[in-house]
Amino acid sequence: MVKFGFALNPSSRIDLDKTDREKFAQLVELEPDVLKCMACGSCTASCTAGKFTPTSVRSAILEIQNGRWQQALDMLKGCLLCGKCTMVCPRAINTRHLILAINEVYQSGK
Ligand code: SF4
Ligand code: SF4
Repeated sequence: MVKFGFALNPSSRIDLDKTDREKFAQLVELEPDVLKCMACGSCTASCTAGKFTPTSVRSAILEIQNGRWQQALDMLKGCLLCGKCTMVCPRAINTRHLILAINEVYQSGK
């Protein structure tokens, strides 16, 4: 095989047929507004913790929707629950409550 001097990343393809959506349904029950997220990124842009840690509400929601909840939990570990993201969300999602709901649903599901 020809060497190119770089390596290919493993595929990040997500097979939604093999994704467990049961926990996501529980999350929707606790915080239905998670369905309103349009992934605009305002929350992430305003997050103080995100400047120093991988904290990102936007990415965490996307990871959870795709069944990769462990990545989302790791991502939200740096959250300070300061509520800045809640103030800037154009969809008026209570992101603070959403973060708590994510932890409640997915921490207990290990
Ligand atoms: S600001 Fe609100 S709508 Fe935008 S990505 Fe964050 S949670 Fe979703
Ligand atoms: S509540 Fe958490 S995710 Fe939202 S801005 Fe504050 S530290 Fe960032």
